[in-house]
Amino acid sequence: MREKTRWIAALMLLALSCGVRANAEVVVAFRLDDYSERSDLALYERVFQIFESRGLCCTVSVVPFVFSVDALDPRPQALLPLGEDKCSFLREHIKKGTVEPALHGYSHQTNLAKPGAYSEFLGLPPGEQERRLTEATKLIRQKLDQNVRIFCPPWNSYDAATLDIIEKLDYSVLTAARGHVAPAASKLRFVPCIADLHDALALTDTALRIRAREDLFVPVLFHLYDLSESGDRRATSSLAELEQLVDALRAQPGVVFSTVGRIAEHYPGLTALAYSADHRAHRWAFPLSLVPRLLLDETLPYPGQNLWASSILVRAGLLYAGAGVAGCLLGIVLVTFAARHRHARLMSSVSALLVAALALGLGFAQYMGGHPGYRMLLVLAVLCGILLPLAYAALRGGRMERSA
Ligand SMILES: [Zn+2]
Repeated sequence: MREKTRWIAALMLLALSCGVRANAEVVVAFRLDDYSERSDLALYERVFQIFESRGLCCTVSVVPFVFSVDALDPRPQALLPLGEDKCSFLREHIKKGTVEPALHGYSHQTNLAKPGAYSEFLGLPPGEQERRLTEATKLIRQKLDQNVRIFCPPWNSYDAATLDIIEKLDYSVLTAARGHVAPAASKLRFVPCIADLHDALALTDTALRIRAREDLFVPVLFHLYDLSESGDRRATSSLAELEQLVDALRAQPGVVFSTVGRIAEHYPGLTALAYSADHRAHRWAFPLSLVPRLLLDETLPYPGQNLWASSILVRAGLLYAGAGVAGCLLGIVLVTFAARHRHARLMSSVSALLVAALALGLGFAQYMGGHPGYRMLLVLAVLCGILLPLAYAALRGGRMERSA
């Protein structure tokens, strides 16, 4: 009897654990960058309204001593400290629960003049990094009356020294982008922003489709300049579209909203090791380079270790099998045509050409370091498909000749 109870308990536990797996959630968070003395409060108010009216909170990254002329010019320029009106506005929203503050560098001015590789901290001597970060931390914690513990480097760029310094300054979370420096010894939690306003919905769909054992995260990064209301020429979206996106995400069963800080707090597994593993999975996972964009959203949810279990593999498998079958049908048509018109020589030339193409393709794929890309793999699948009936016909022809 006791044995039976044990079995029932074990089965119930198994059922329960399956249930936990099925209930894994997709956790969405929004991070709004670049709040500073230069900011347009009226537009911020309209953005915050979207979150406030839905009872949501947005992580807002703050630049304490913003550049006055050009962020992309590394030459010295006057800096604008965060003024009292900007601070009180933010404090008010923090109190309402609409805003979770994060530190966004010191001045958001690049120290590297290389286009495409702008950074405030990468390569800056550690002493200077420490001076800037200490000063920035002091201002933001004092003025916002908050123990801000989320650090968000400008241009998502930093180095190992930056991480050491922010750990010393009692930060617990780093939010940048995917695939940056993360020494294994770091005690920080890593919550990279992996989506923007355009791919957030598709990425969330992907996350929902992937039957992950654990929760997946889709932190979304945006700026005021992304919104047409800012008048910025970089704008690709609008307040109305932001509102639609938030509502579309909220309407998805299995999606929950959180913030960068809360994600880091509730998921102790988001360590430096998980961050590095995600990067490796994202970079080297088989399906990513070999699945057409049509079937694959450009990026995948965080963390990406569970990619092999994803439905993407099934879709990719179906696609390549389909290409093989199409090739096979083409081969059958060729064989039938040749048999009907007795084009034996044509058949052997076509076969030789196909074998050469296949060999060249495989050689090229090898040359590309094993990442041939989906287009080439599709062509190879079709070629293999065509060759199958040709080889079969050649074998049968040979056998018949021998028996004759
Ligand atoms: Zn920024």
